[in-house]
Amino acid sequence: MTILIIAEHAQGELKPETNKVVTASLALGSEIHVLVAGYDCKQAAESAAAILGVTRVLIADKPAYQYQLAENVAALVAELAGGYEYVLAAATTSGKNFMPRVAALLDVEQISDIIAVEAADTFKRPVYAGNAIATVQSTDHKKVITVRTTAFDAAEVGESAPVEYLETDIDMGVSTFVAETLTVSERPELTAASIIISGGRGMQNGDNFAMLESVADKLGGAVGASRAAVDAGFVSNDMQVGQTGKIVAPDLYIAVGISGAIQHLAGMKDSKVIVAINKDEDAPIFQVADYGLVADLFDVIPVLESQL
Ligand SMILES: Cc1cc2nc3c(=O)[nH]c(=O)nc-3n(C[C@H](O)[C@H](O)[C@H](O)COP(=O)(O)OP(=O)(O)OC[C@H]3O[C@@H](n4cnc5c(N)ncnc54)[C@H](O)[C@@H]3O)c2cc1C
Repeated sequence: MTILIIAEHAQGELKPETNKVVTASLALGSEIHVLVAGYDCKQAAESAAAILGVTRVLIADKPAYQYQLAENVAALVAELAGGYEYVLAAATTSGKNFMPRVAALLDVEQISDIIAVEAADTFKRPVYAGNAIATVQSTDHKKVITVRTTAFDAAEVGESAPVEYLETDIDMGVSTFVAETLTVSERPELTAASIIISGGRGMQNGDNFAMLESVADKLGGAVGASRAAVDAGFVSNDMQVGQTGKIVAPDLYIAVGISGAIQHLAGMKDSKVIVAINKDEDAPIFQVADYGLVADLFDVIPVLESQL
């Protein structure tokens, strides 16, 4: 089976999501090619070539792909897809943007957000905000799949697959890059962090998140939030964890002043160890927590920080 993976990369660096999609693909076949579409993205291509299991890297290094506009990337992928039985990408903001377009251009259904490969045509994926797992079978001749990366370990590196430059240069001319505003932070990215401390409505305001930031900095972790905290304007929406936010599965997730609504759990319940701090002993978050502390967060977070 021949497989094409679309690499996730930014600022010249390959993102670990790509390694996880490779792991998902290993169950489908052994001829695994990775496409790196971008501009000045040679370093990302070299990193992709080093992933164990990758047999070839295709690099489309053209101005048309500089900002990875979904319309241009989708057209490129659809053109290349003829030679492959599977096209896979991570179910990230960018994967969710261009992959449905690829599926539409190829006139097949997208198989979204898979968490396991059961057989060559059968996959498991969460539905109802993760409260049920559906087993889906596809009869499409070509399978366009997005992968929930928290469900797969990252493939190791150590090989050196050949890198082939593509001349295909497709600018659909229907979208242009205007600007991007990047969050500058010394902390790890939420989806890549092995420790996350998140705050909810119980934090009362944005200033109080400084307490969580101090703990995060001591632990080398990232800071997340519930949607209630985001909607109340305490913090920016790129920090939201949950069904409509980021899906995370760190080694340690500390939920502070978060009730544990199913939409929040959908984004973090696969974390390896969950700690909940809430003053309401009946809060649903305690049902998924490995360690629960019934306490006022304003009493215990400063103590936790000083102990650390
Ligand atoms: C379609 C849809 C999608 C959604 N997507 C998301 C999503 O992606 N992510 C998400 O988080 N939510 C999402 N929600 C919202 C979700 O339903 C909840 O409303 C939200 O998660 C609640 O956030 P919260 O726990 O911070 O607030 P609350 O439910 O108000 O809970 C606050 C908690 O803080 C505790 N608390 C208060 N003061 C203190 C204190 N001093 N010390 C200790 N504990 C204290 C309270 O006991 C309470 O349990 C979605 C909802 C819908 C309908």
